[in-house]
Amino acid sequence: MPQRFTTLPLNEKMLSNLEQLGYHQMTPVQEKSLPLLLQGEDLIAQAKTGSGKTAAFGIALLHHLDLAQLKVQAAVICPTRELSEQVANELRRLARFQDNIKILTLVGGEAVYPQKVALEKGVHIIVGTPGRIMDTITKGHLHLEEVKTLVLDEADRMLDMGFHDDIAAIIKYMPEERQTLLFSATFEKETQELSKKFQKKAQLITIVSQQSEATITQHFYQAEEAQKIDLIEALITSNTLNSCIVFCNMKLTCDDVSEALRMRGFDAAALHGDMEQKDRNEILTMFTNQSLSILVATDVAARGLDIKDLPAIINYDITAHSEVHLHRIGRTGRMGKEGLAFTFVGAKELKFFKAIEAYTKESYTLESPKALRVNKHFDKTAPMRTLKILGGKKEKLRAGDFVGALSGELGYSSEDVGKIMVLDRMSYIAVKKELFYKLHLKDDRLKVKKSKYRYIKL
Ligand code: ADP
Ligand code: MG
Repeated sequence: MPQRFTTLPLNEKMLSNLEQLGYHQMTPVQEKSLPLLLQGEDLIAQAKTGSGKTAAFGIALLHHLDLAQLKVQAAVICPTRELSEQVANELRRLARFQDNIKILTLVGGEAVYPQKVALEKGVHIIVGTPGRIMDTITKGHLHLEEVKTLVLDEADRMLDMGFHDDIAAIIKYMPEERQTLLFSATFEKETQELSKKFQKKAQLITIVSQQSEATITQHFYQAEEAQKIDLIEALITSNTLNSCIVFCNMKLTCDDVSEALRMRGFDAAALHGDMEQKDRNEILTMFTNQSLSILVATDVAARGLDIKDLPAIINYDITAHSEVHLHRIGRTGRMGKEGLAFTFVGAKELKFFKAIEAYTKESYTLESPKALRVNKHFDKTAPMRTLKILGGKKEKLRAGDFVGALSGELGYSSEDVGKIMVLDRMSYIAVKKELFYKLHLKDDRLKVKKSKYRYIKL
């Protein structure tokens, strides 16, 4: 039986906020780690993506905060900007039980000055990437002498990406006496070394996820490069997949594959590290609000991202690393939902297929893709489209204001409008695609509350 959060020594307001978030029971990694985390122990925790690791360390670091002290007391280091944003958002949700918990993201691509101002005013928690955190320290804007909790999220991925030295340099600015936590979906030897260097008597927690893996059905197909786009089209349409991630091993392949899928009429886009930050954020927003149905991504770009309800993933390229394979397929079938995983295996890649079988102690059939057929009745386009509004929190706009504006000015009902994301100076509104095409407003401006805002149809 999963335990409830009320078995933990947490404050009442925190507990009732967890209830409000719909977190009624602890996930396995939370159940195992939280008692130790709350006692201030160092920890290495490994559990697959989607298992609730953020809330595990988030609840603990919030629990240890001394709000009266407006100094950075917790630092979370993440491999990518997107993951930093996502972790910060989850922390903000967890922090809602208490006013005035200040959380700041420190990631590249954002203006330095507002970050400096925020740090001067005082911040309790920072979340960011190693490069920008180091820059901020060097500029003299960030002080970490009061840090009590340090979290390295997706620790082994950060090592893979060559962040070891940056992390070591950042840690030099923190007190010796602190709690250091390593969270990751996979674990490699290097992580042990990181632990030895920076942790004290760290306990290791590993959650083996047989239970949820059973809900993922895997298919492996013999396929060479030239067939793969046809096969993706057949797999998506015949399985009526309204959303999926296609994994490629290289950034360039991502661009080619997404372009080829767009030519076939799919709403697909690539996501990888060579793209500008703004574009990456926009693409993720559009994927999560159902304006894009296929994301073609590298492992690094997709790492750690919490994308809900993914019915399937497709491995355009099989990976040479069995652990990475498990991690990729773990993106679907999350939180008990069923998932499909398809992997193409070329003649020269049989060894990788065998390695996966050996690693998972399973045996799979290498199927011929000949029987796969395109289902012509399937609508390849995504159900929504995105309207980008050049106005956001700084203009005091909220999601509800946009619903109001669209229904007032255009007669939309609340069903016509999907996910709304309001950022500091920009907002993204998902609108049913049928209505989107008809949307024309005078001077491309939408009136929201008292002012008019320019909009762009993405
Ligand atoms: P991980 O870091 O392990 O990949 P996340 O922290 O991103 O996973 O969590 C995945 C999802 O699970 C998030 O949407 C989060 O809101 C949700 N979640 C976390 N803990 C719980 C819980 N105890 N009950 C229900 N949902 C949860
Ligand atoms: Mg995570």
